[in-house]
Amino acid sequence: MFVDQVKVYVKGGDGGNGIVAYRREKYVPKGGPAGGDGGNGANVVFEVEEGLRTLMDFRYQRHFKAPRGEHGMSKNMHGKNAPDMVVKVPPGTVVIDDDTKEVIADLVEHGQRAVIAKGGRGGRGNSRFATPANPAPEIAENGEPGQERNIVMELKLLADVGLVGFPSVGKSTLLSVVSAARPKIAEYHFTTIVPNLGLVETEDARSFVMADLPGLIEGASEGVGLGHQFLRHIERTRVIVHVIDMSGMEGRDPYEDFVTINKELKEYNLRLTERPQIIVANKMDMPEAEENLQVFKTKMTEDFPVFPVSALTREGVRELLFAVADKIEQTPEFPLDHEEEETGIHRVLYKHEVQRDEFTITREPDGSFVVSGFKVERLFKMTDFNREESIRRFARQLRSFGVDEALREKGAKDGDIVRIMEYEFEFVE
Ligand code: GDP
Ligand code: MG
Repeated sequence: MFVDQVKVYVKGGDGGNGIVAYRREKYVPKGGPAGGDGGNGANVVFEVEEGLRTLMDFRYQRHFKAPRGEHGMSKNMHGKNAPDMVVKVPPGTVVIDDDTKEVIADLVEHGQRAVIAKGGRGGRGNSRFATPANPAPEIAENGEPGQERNIVMELKLLADVGLVGFPSVGKSTLLSVVSAARPKIAEYHFTTIVPNLGLVETEDARSFVMADLPGLIEGASEGVGLGHQFLRHIERTRVIVHVIDMSGMEGRDPYEDFVTINKELKEYNLRLTERPQIIVANKMDMPEAEENLQVFKTKMTEDFPVFPVSALTREGVRELLFAVADKIEQTPEFPLDHEEEETGIHRVLYKHEVQRDEFTITREPDGSFVVSGFKVERLFKMTDFNREESIRRFARQLRSFGVDEALREKGAKDGDIVRIMEYEFEFVE
């Protein structure tokens, strides 16, 4: 199976910081706490867009960072939540966490959505920390960092366009010319140009998959278990591009070729002749080609558009691709008679929460202890170290996670140095 694959980095927006503020009342020097909470950071959300057919766009943009939430404000005003960052993906896109290799989402139907990286929650303002014992606390939380992920996006490629025509008319040449149009593909070490199938991008940034149809059909008759996949390919093939050699070099009549190939297409019984056909009059760079084309047009009774091109000089190829892309957009699939897959359209959306280790403690050569782990690091990032009260709360939280206990078990003594990210403190019994 041909698979389009890209690696992408996504990051949810950080939460806005909560703030420390006090009510100002006339004649009251320091009113009650009035620091608002920060807003939530934006989620990175993927949404299926029916019209998309490849992951080409992701080859140009590989970083998706959602905006952060607004910071809290005085008078207990909550910072605004950042709206979701919505990224459009083609139907059939599977999203995999590159580190854990687990499937995050299997996006099938138009409009289907999945949160790929969660935004961080807003930090709490000082109002939220008020207690009867401490009615005006000088403490606020920073926003929670947004989730960061390296992901792999995968899409099984199905042919949107089928190339047909006699041997040596220039099908392979055309395919190689249109799918090599963007040298960037090669830079990314992405092998899109598999023998019979190419990823095509038009100048106006639409993309589709073009396949050598006889190649596909032959492949299917040889391969075992290709049956269903093959039918999906054929159904998906909305447009037939019929390549005809206009040079007359082989001594054949272009119109007879055209008739013969169409007869063959009919015999496959795959509704192939019901699809719109675009005629490519190829090898127009050759001397006799123009004359042969005129003769061909007078003989042709079908109302198919004809594009004179030269796959060799690329003359006319640009216009051809625009016409093909338009036609794909206007044409629905051609369902064939075959059993519905049980695993069909309504596949489940996997919601996956990674189990986070609480924390780990390691010892450095200098005798200091290093505490690491998702939870303690998140707590660290949400702590405002400029305020005494915040630092005290940080210490309390660590104790409640069991960090003190674990340090003691590891042999930590009064005065030993303990580090969490950039923060360093003394262990006090
Ligand atoms: P396929 O069998 O249909 O895949 O045909 P190929 O792409 O292998 O082409 C057969 C021959 O025609 C090759 O020698 C190509 O170089 C040549 N050819 C393809 N396109 C053109 C064209 O536009 N002009 C000329 N002059 N030769 C072409
Ligand atoms: Mg060929």
